[in-house]
Amino acid sequence: MSEEEDQQTFSDFALRESILKDVAAAGFERPTPIQAACIPPVLEGKDVIGLAQTGTGKTAAFALPIIERVAQSMEMAALVLAPTRELAQQISAMFEELGHSSGIRVATVVGGIPIEKDWKALVSWPNVLVATPGRLIDHMESGNVVFNDIKVFVVDEADRMHDMGFIPQIDRVIKDLPEDRQTLMLTATMPPDVERIARRNMRSAVRVQVGRRSAPAERAEQQVFHVNSTGKISLLLHLLDDGDGRVLVFARTKAGVDEVARSIRSRRYRVDRIHSNRTQIDRNEAMAAFRDGRTRVLVATDIAARGLDVADIEHVINYDFPHAAEDYVHRIGRTARVEASGRATSFVTRADGRYVAAVERLIGDKLPISANPLGDDGGRPERSRSGGGRSSARRSGAKRSGGGRSSRGSRGGRRGRSGKSPKTTQ
Ligand code: ADP
Repeated sequence: MSEEEDQQTFSDFALRESILKDVAAAGFERPTPIQAACIPPVLEGKDVIGLAQTGTGKTAAFALPIIERVAQSMEMAALVLAPTRELAQQISAMFEELGHSSGIRVATVVGGIPIEKDWKALVSWPNVLVATPGRLIDHMESGNVVFNDIKVFVVDEADRMHDMGFIPQIDRVIKDLPEDRQTLMLTATMPPDVERIARRNMRSAVRVQVGRRSAPAERAEQQVFHVNSTGKISLLLHLLDDGDGRVLVFARTKAGVDEVARSIRSRRYRVDRIHSNRTQIDRNEAMAAFRDGRTRVLVATDIAARGLDVADIEHVINYDFPHAAEDYVHRIGRTARVEASGRATSFVTRADGRYVAAVERLIGDKLPISANPLGDDGGRPERSRSGGGRSSARRSGAKRSGGGRSSRGSRGGRRGRSGKSPKTTQ
């Protein structure tokens, strides 16, 4: 950050007093780099592609100038699409917090909540409508929403939308939007397909990029433990015993989340779960309890990896190593948010070797390996055994880092990435 940026304050932007008041009440003293870069072009009405890692303040980067624009002309409205219900609710909360004194009306429509509740929200003529794609399209098809006033359209976590197979839904929504709108796209990473959508639907977009591409939150202290899959639970409980801060644990499947949560509960820790088989009410309650400290441990699938903003997560644990390299970046981004610092621990079994290699390629760095405190490092993939003299790794052959589970094939991970049916896996 240059010295000039360092000295910048929110009053340097053309934001009205009522917004500055809410910004101050939120405790934001200075704009983060993505905010400093995004706010001016969005205020000018330009299309913007904002690339920044998670936890950098992307939400306020688009919310603040949108609130200003809407406050100038209360007939205009903004539509924000988010990939998950939790993220949509969080974005709405940010708009409410920062737009409160400017009289901004916000509505959220997300799946999993009785649809009648949406009707009430929609007839209030919100200035900002935050939605997940599926529920919004339900409303479009039943004629409950009219987009004539939408002058700003935001796609948040565009890369996640892509991973979850939402591109056709985004196209469907865009078809109904007025042509003379402003489009903003926020994303931590820019896969080529997302780039293509941007090119198709945005006009001479300004691209602002903050930090390295795909960099994990910079202040998170990362470590990797090699472990046998049978030793994971003991290692997890050991790590929980070792600290007392808030811990977010990622497992790959819904059944995995349930199982891990059960083991943690049997150790009498306050724990809750988030995955797509739980009702929205349960998911909200799990988030609220984690946020306000009633539960210490939250176990989740990747549905919770992006965008979720809980202050002071001390430790993110990848109980199952992610199959999609970009998910690693998003999971790690849950700790070390704007002001805090945190720890990110990954359990790596023999079968995870190639996924670790993919993450290391993506972040351009090696993941630091620590000695397993329980001494069970049987999962150590062959690449890291080089100094170790044991020959079994070599015997398994370089191409079989999947530990013999060859039926998954090298495409197993990729299929998970394209995530056409996230609802069945998360
Ligand atoms: P992202 O969307 O980039 O993942 P968020 O917008 O959710 O990140 O912001 C992360 C956290 O930082 C939130 O708790 C938010 O309230 C806080 N935050 C945002 N902007 C600032 C700021 N300028 N100063 C201090 N905290 C901020």
